[in-house]
Amino acid sequence: TTGTSRRWTVLREGDPYREARLRMVEQLRRSGLVTSSRVLEAMARVPRHLFVPPEYRGMAYEDRPLPIGHGQTISAPGVVGRMLQLLDPRPGDRVLDVGAGSGYQSALLAELVSPGGRVYAVERIPELAEYARENLGRAGYLGVVEVVVGDGSRGLPQHAPYQRIKVAAAAPKPPKPLVEQLASGGRMVIPIGTPDLQVLTVIEKTPEGRVREWRDIEFLFVPLIGEHGYREDWRKQY
Ligand code: SAM
Repeated sequence: TTGTSRRWTVLREGDPYREARLRMVEQLRRSGLVTSSRVLEAMARVPRHLFVPPEYRGMAYEDRPLPIGHGQTISAPGVVGRMLQLLDPRPGDRVLDVGAGSGYQSALLAELVSPGGRVYAVERIPELAEYARENLGRAGYLGVVEVVVGDGSRGLPQHAPYQRIKVAAAAPKPPKPLVEQLASGGRMVIPIGTPDLQVLTVIEKTPEGRVREWRDIEFLFVPLIGEHGYREDWRKQY
C-alpha cells in the first residue's frame, strides 16, 4: 500500500497536525479495527483537530473520545472508523447521520459520498448543531453536509429514502422510522443495547424490501434520547 500512503502524505501540506493524523491512521490500520483503505484515506484527510474544543487539540489524534460540551463527546476515531467501514457509503449516496455532535463523522461521510452524494446530519441539542455547522464550515464540508436540529430517532422524512443511515448514539432497538426511511438495498449502522453496553448492529434492507440484521463488536455510546430511543430520564429506567 505504498501508493496509498504516498497519497495520504501529499494531502493538506502545511498542516501542523498532519504527522499526528497519519500516525493515528497507521495505528488504526495496524490494530485491525479499521482495514478499509477508503475509510482510512478519508480519516487521513479530515482534520479532526478542527472538531474538538481548542483545549483538547493536542489530543485530537489519540484514539479516545473527547468532551464537546453539553455532556456529549466526539467519539473515538477507532469506533468511528469501524462504523464507517461497516456502513460502506458509496459516492452519490444520500446519507442520514443521526447525532451530529462535533460534525466530525459527517465530514468523513462527506468524503466518502463525494462526488455526488449528500449528508443530512441531525442533532437534538441546538448549540451542538451550531457547533457542528461551524466546524464543518471551517473544514470546508458545508457544500455536502446539511445540519438539522431535531429528534433524529424519528429520522428526516423530507429527504428519505437514504442509501445509508448511521446512528452515533445508542438505542434500545432499531427506531422504526429509521428502518422505514432506509432505501431498498440500503444499510444502517446503529449501536443497540442497554445504556451500559451496546453492540454495533448492521441492518440491511434487501432489494425486495426484507430486513435482516447482523452484529459486529461491542462499544459504549451516549444514549439516543428521543421518541424512538431512550427517555430523557434514561438513567432511571435501568
Ligand atoms: N458523530 C459525532 C461526532 O463525530 O462528534 C458524535 C456524536 S455523540 C457520540 C452523539 C450525539 O448524538 C450527541 O451530540 C447527542 O446530543 C446526539 N443525540 C442524542 N440523541 C439524539 C436524537 N434523538 N437526535 C439527534 N441527536 C441525538
